[in-house]
Amino acid sequence: MSDVTPRYARVLHDGAPAYVLVPPAGPAQLLTAAPWADGRPTGVQLAHDAQMLCPVLPSKIIGIGRNYRKHAAELKNEVPEEPLMFFKPPSSLLDPGGTVQLPPESERVDYEGELVVVIGKRCRRASAAQAREAIFGYSIGCDITARDLQQKDKQWTRAKGFDTFCPLGPLVVPLKDPHGLSLQLTVNGQLRQDGSTSDMIFDVPALVAYASQSMTLEPGDVIYTGTPEGVGPLKHGDDVRVRIENLGELAFHVAGPA
Ligand code: ZN
Repeated sequence: MSDVTPRYARVLHDGAPAYVLVPPAGPAQLLTAAPWADGRPTGVQLAHDAQMLCPVLPSKIIGIGRNYRKHAAELKNEVPEEPLMFFKPPSSLLDPGGTVQLPPESERVDYEGELVVVIGKRCRRASAAQAREAIFGYSIGCDITARDLQQKDKQWTRAKGFDTFCPLGPLVVPLKDPHGLSLQLTVNGQLRQDGSTSDMIFDVPALVAYASQSMTLEPGDVIYTGTPEGVGPLKHGDDVRVRIENLGELAFHVAGPA
């Protein structure tokens, strides 16, 4: 499917951020605006070595906790009866290829490879069918989490909200069905997570519909849909890659604490 589907990204072009269309073949083209804001191709082609940025600038980043049974079990948590939502601040976003900075406040910072939903249309109190219509596409994210602070603080704002704790990208891809995609995460080339998005407890339309009951979802908002089992700690110098079928690969480095 990745061979025929148009994909979208954001890059630095002549020193300014720009949305681009990445066609199935040929060079990427600049867009007039974000694709979910009716951005049209300008015909301007992009240099091959353009720096990739987060493909979205969300007004909010919603995370879903414990949405895979085996991950809930590995941290000795119950499976929630309804989706367990939290926020990550937009200031935690990290461009593809960037470096996660381990904070001195934590002794245990974990990776969590995740499928990310990108909203395309404003929606509020949506049904599952309306939620499907409101989705623009999908990307790859890593929900970096200071596990010790998550347990200590009870609520998760600090543990999941440090600067650089939200790697995202590099592409946004419209897919008809985001379930049944394989997801792998490697640290220094070693496989640590090997799951499938078909193992989600609450599926993607259910998550979007649920979130929209309490807050208006805006174009460009993103939802991190939870992580499969195999989470584990990061250390200075690690090279992390998250691959999701049809969505490509998100890479980042790890450094610190400074
Ligand atoms: Zn997560």
